Amino acid sequence: MKKKIYEGKAKVIYKGKDPNTLIQYFKDDATAFNNKKKGVIPGKGVINNFISELLMTRLTDINIPNHFIKRLNMREQLIRKLEIIAIEVVVRNIATGSLVKRLGIEEGKILSRPIIEFYLKDDKLNDPIISEEHIIAFEWATHNELEEIISLSARINDFLTGYFYSQKIRLVDFKLEFGRLWENHDCTIMLADEISPDNCRLWDMQTNEKLDKDRFRQDLGKVDKAYKEVAYRLGVLSEKEFKKVLKNDF
Ligand code: ADP
Ligand code: UDP
Repeated sequence: MKKKIYEGKAKVIYKGKDPNTLIQYFKDDATAFNNKKKGVIPGKGVINNFISELLMTRLTDINIPNHFIKRLNMREQLIRKLEIIAIEVVVRNIATGSLVKRLGIEEGKILSRPIIEFYLKDDKLNDPIISEEHIIAFEWATHNELEEIISLSARINDFLTGYFYSQKIRLVDFKLEFGRLWENHDCTIMLADEISPDNCRLWDMQTNEKLDKDRFRQDLGKVDKAYKEVAYRLGVLSEKEFKKVLKNDF
């Protein structure tokens, strides 16, 4: 029996055999508006597990350190256990969502340069937006760590934008989490959590159709179809394979 150490909104975290590892189990549960809206997107966990595997592996290929070790099965992956930095890093290429609401920017405006924002990862406080000054002053991360997080986020954005573009998908914005890997006294900042349609906004290039969690947030319907579409375009699962998976799902 695996030991559960945390159950979040979208994933369950178990202890790995090696104490430096964890197992991420991807659920079909979906939440929005800080847990006020709840639902299930059938097959989402499987799709996010596969998409995150693919994207983390491609990031490893270009030397972006990340927690992914290997996929264990349809819903689980082995990851490095990190000391999570309690900051959500949002990278934006196109104006939408909270940016439009907060600043009155025109919906869909292509930004003249990507914007990196920081939010405190604290559900009780509703994940408030914070500045670099807050991060340094309250010692949530050091100056050097923050520089590294910004540089990695910019590289990840450049890479993922091109990767999705090649599948005729616009990477509108996304959220990243980082953690510290301690080896003796050395610390490496690594990308953690997941990269999937749960935390990226993905629009079809031709039609601007939303292929991400906004379909759930805004009750647009065909939510699972949108997740599947991203998986098919990225080539991580074929329609046939996915149907087989769902039949034998645990
Ligand atoms: P939430 O906690 O926001 O409800 P999830 O359901 O996705 O989110 O739970 C996954 C949890 O695991 C998150 O709190 C995330 O910060 C944490 N996590 C992700 N990657 C790692 C890692 N490599 N080491 C430790 N914790 C991690
Ligand atoms: N995001 C996320 N988790 C959060 C908040 C945002 O994954 O708790 C992602 C969201 O999917 C989008 C990006 O971060 O891709 C920017 O979200 P925004 O600030 O516009 O928030 P929202 O409109 O969802 O409140």
